[in-house]
Amino acid sequence: MFRYHEKYDCSNEPRPVFYSCPWIQHGLVFFKYKLTTCCYCGHSGGGHTLIKDDYNGQPINWNHIFKQKREFNRLYKKGLINDNCVDCPFLTARWNEHWESDEDYISNLYISHWTECNSKCIYCFETQHPEEFNLNKKSYSVLPIIKEMLQKNILRRGGSIHFGGGEPTLLPEFDDIIRLLLDYKFYDLRVHTSGIKYSPILERGIREGRLRVIVSVDAGCAETFQKIKQVPAYDIVRENIRKYAAAQVLRKHALTPDLYMKGGICASTKFIVIPGLNDTKEEVENWIKADVEAGVNTSIIDIEENWFKAHEDNLPQSIFDFIHLIQDLTQKYGTHFELYERVANMLKDNPERAQWYSPPEE
Ligand code: SF4
Ligand code: SF4
Repeated sequence: MFRYHEKYDCSNEPRPVFYSCPWIQHGLVFFKYKLTTCCYCGHSGGGHTLIKDDYNGQPINWNHIFKQKREFNRLYKKGLINDNCVDCPFLTARWNEHWESDEDYISNLYISHWTECNSKCIYCFETQHPEEFNLNKKSYSVLPIIKEMLQKNILRRGGSIHFGGGEPTLLPEFDDIIRLLLDYKFYDLRVHTSGIKYSPILERGIREGRLRVIVSVDAGCAETFQKIKQVPAYDIVRENIRKYAAAQVLRKHALTPDLYMKGGICASTKFIVIPGLNDTKEEVENWIKADVEAGVNTSIIDIEENWFKAHEDNLPQSIFDFIHLIQDLTQKYGTHFELYERVANMLKDNPERAQWYSPPEE
């Protein structure tokens, strides 16, 4: 549903502007049973605007998709905003000519259409709701669709291509997809992985400065890792992180200039704060120290989704203070402090409780 929202009203701006985002313009997401516009869901609108339900790898009607995107532009230009996008930090006012393009293409792609994994994270949606996943159902293949997009010049460089999942390195066509994209000189590829299986094709992407690997660790020791991941793989994950970090190079042409501020960021790890389980100074400090020893320069923070949803109307000050503590530790060890959408929004929406936080400039 598209509605008028006063805060997105641009009618009094001196120069014509309207709100939109790179995913509305040029984004596509492959989920297990559907196609959507974006994968972001950590804001009040909930994201995941549907393009096609019941999707299982059928040929895509590109005219239909681009017609829908043009219709979005028409409505957003009139100041009508899709409910799913409300409060999304990616919704940004720009001059009309910035958002309007004569060409139809996709440059932001998120591939997340399978669920197989070699970890059993306690917070995983699959672990908590196994009945909602038909684990025996084979996932469809996106490789032919990506080949078609490349042949028709529908998929173009300039945006970012992400993998979700499931564990990407277990996807049978994963190596072929990454190889194809690297051969086509795509950059800003991003892969979230458990880090349990080492992937030479990921190493190639890192070495070329075109691909960012984000390993979810969430722990500073094997004991906490076991509690959260429920697999005895801490040491192997740490070893794989070290190997990925060793492949990092600094190449100015790849990724985005701002991400190069603090040096190589192609190998990163992520710490999802789970209050009561891993929210101690010792745990986080050990995580950052292990990263620094391995050659990883970026510390990415998120908050566990279920805990957040249960507390979002009454967030304790302790969670703000803990994120502040992590920022202090990243400064102490010289790593780049990066926040995922949910945490960034929490800090931005509660400035009085996080006075130390300065949101990045748009
Ligand atoms: S939810 Fe956010 S990222 Fe997704 S389409 Fe809407 S504005 Fe864009
Ligand atoms: S690594 Fe991701 S997909 Fe696998 S269990 Fe953990 S959260 Fe779920």
